[in-house]
Amino acid sequence: MNITCIICPNGCRLSLRQEGDEIIVQGAKCKKGIDFAKTELLNPMRSLTSTVATVFPEMPRLPVKTKGEIPKGKMFEAMEIIRNVIIDKRLKAGDIVLPDVFGTEIIATADIP
Ligand code: SF4
Repeated sequence: MNITCIICPNGCRLSLRQEGDEIIVQGAKCKKGIDFAKTELLNPMRSLTSTVATVFPEMPRLPVKTKGEIPKGKMFEAMEIIRNVIIDKRLKAGDIVLPDVFGTEIIATADIP
């Protein structure tokens, strides 16, 4: 399996193979890339950015994002959860929109004026 490391702008091309219980990673210039490759193979994680509806006509959509990362395979389910949210409080950037979506918070990334 070949992937590109997305941890830093170097974009190292990584080659992964499994030998028994061991995962061999080649092409990484640092340990972060090795950790990224192993996570990609075993349990890929992603950040999610989106918007949620609000009741405020001056800002009908509030931009949000995951505070951490969620499993890549749960992205569509997470989008479905986010799609059902309607914000009725004037939140500020960093405020929690949802406390736990697949292990991380969904937070606002802008203020509702
Ligand atoms: S392996 Fe290290 S140096 Fe290469 S892209 Fe990933 S984080 Fe950057």
